[in-house]
Amino acid sequence: MRAVWYDTFGGPVSVREVPSPRPAPHEAVVEVAATGVCRSDWHAWQGHDPDVSLPHVGGHEFAGVVAEVGAEVRGFRPGQRVTAPFVHACGRCAQCARGDHQICARQTQPGFTRWGSFAEYVVVDHADVNLVLLPDALEFTTAAGLGCRFGTAYRAVLRQGRVGAGDWVAVHGCGGAGLSAVEVAVAAGARVVAVDVSAAALDLARALGAAEVVDASIDPEPAAVASVVHDLTDGGARVSLDCLGSPATCAASVLGLARGGRHVQVGLLHGGATPVPMDRVVAYELDVVGSHGLPAHEYPAMLGLVTAGRLRPDRLVGKLIDLADVPNALAAMSPNGPRLGLPGAGMTVAVLSQV
Ligand SMILES: [Zn+2]
Ligand SMILES: [Zn+2]
Repeated sequence: MRAVWYDTFGGPVSVREVPSPRPAPHEAVVEVAATGVCRSDWHAWQGHDPDVSLPHVGGHEFAGVVAEVGAEVRGFRPGQRVTAPFVHACGRCAQCARGDHQICARQTQPGFTRWGSFAEYVVVDHADVNLVLLPDALEFTTAAGLGCRFGTAYRAVLRQGRVGAGDWVAVHGCGGAGLSAVEVAVAAGARVVAVDVSAAALDLARALGAAEVVDASIDPEPAAVASVVHDLTDGGARVSLDCLGSPATCAASVLGLARGGRHVQVGLLHGGATPVPMDRVVAYELDVVGSHGLPAHEYPAMLGLVTAGRLRPDRLVGKLIDLADVPNALAAMSPNGPRLGLPGAGMTVAVLSQV
């Protein structure tokens, strides 16, 4: 099969022929129809993720058709349209027994702990636990974003953030996860303040229903950003999400909260310590929680809202590319890379087939 492959961190990325996978007894092999290109894939390529070993094939948010299932798989068969979360849970550990598959102690992750979906075929571990059937009307290109950014945002806003109608919600970082969070929070009836350094990202956030936007490039100091958020929200946000994952956005998010507010850390923080302003956490009695993906068993509720038109992940798809363009899309995320992939201005999706 064709796959986007590299054997050095930060080095050349190329499309080449590699052996197609065969399923172990509990696995399914999915023919990839579409796969999102996410900032986490860039981090993996740059060597920021200790789970990645070389050579590697990235890609962790995908949709496609079941091609083959292992002997122990009962609930799925070839030909079904499916997706899966980026966390493939074991289904048996203590966390899984509680339903917390997204923090499974024995999880695998395509594109990180094993080869991923920048390829014609990808393996889904413990297929009966992790595969999700797609509604017929949901396009593969839209479904490709559910496994990472949209599903993650859905859980971060509604489950971990407990956002309700009328709440002021701040979203720091309006890339894929952040824009998804804006959309989910708006659908929940919240008033959203979107924060980013990119005017294009803020325009998209406004188009998705953000009531206010803050251009953090004007004064990126966390205290300055937080001060603007306090002014716009009449005393601070009820819930605030750091969807980028940097020391600055994390601090700005915590500092922008109202008393008794709740910070949700969504963006992965790579490398180094992140100083959380714990003095404020104490003085304002803030909740600080993490959010990590969405378990497969929570997909039906989300897909129901998508089918009903109350959530519109299709609006987050920005640019459609071929598998052969994935190396360029990754390079475009580098600070001095070519401006091709427009990270932060809609989701880039590689389309492999229309199966
Ligand atoms: Zn588990
Ligand atoms: Zn991702």
